[in-house]
Amino acid sequence: MRLILLGPPGAGKGTQAERLVKDYDIRQLSTGEMLRAAVAAKTAVGVKVEEILKRGDLVSDEIVCAIISDRIDEADCANGFILDGFPRTIAQAEALGGLLDEKGLTLDGVVEIRVDEGILLKRIEKRASETEGGARADDNAEALKKRLAVYKEQTAPLIDYYSKSGQLKTVDGMQDIDAVAASIKDALSS
Ligand code: ADP
Repeated sequence: MRLILLGPPGAGKGTQAERLVKDYDIRQLSTGEMLRAAVAAKTAVGVKVEEILKRGDLVSDEIVCAIISDRIDEADCANGFILDGFPRTIAQAEALGGLLDEKGLTLDGVVEIRVDEGILLKRIEKRASETEGGARADDNAEALKKRLAVYKEQTAPLIDYYSKSGQLKTVDGMQDIDAVAASIKDALSS
């Protein structure tokens, strides 16, 4: 099973990805987590992207595409993977299509977790207050709002892109966690 999870920050992609990983025995490939790990380990990539992450801006397509391409080749991804946070731009989606073709792989679906924007802003503010001084340097209200704005401008167009290719499956992300998970499973089996 090879999937893309789409949705704005705060939509619950990470939570749902964790479930899918267990249910389908596949790997979650989160570019955000991989980049944060690179920053923590002070790798060459990490040093390059640290400030970009802090601001909530996007890292270059070249960097994230290279990271994903290498990761997909690893043995533990043989049974499949969920892309969480990638692709984030049309250019990345096109690059992903090319690299999957090269590897002889196909996608089983693109799942959009759709949420109400007003409620999302409230969730974002709550997440920011809970993580004040906490784990993620980009979980303050300002960076979160920036990430939401970047999502709307750069990533939301992917919904149309994958809808046109017939791969998009939209689920209602405003339900409780179990119901969202059930909706995703339904969408993937239909
Ligand atoms: P969110 O919870 O906002 O969806 P992520 O953990 O997915 O955040 O990503 C955190 C940050 O990592 C982003 O704000 C961006 O700077 C960088 N990043 C992650 N994935 C990508 C990507 N595919 N392209 C460019 N930048 C990315």
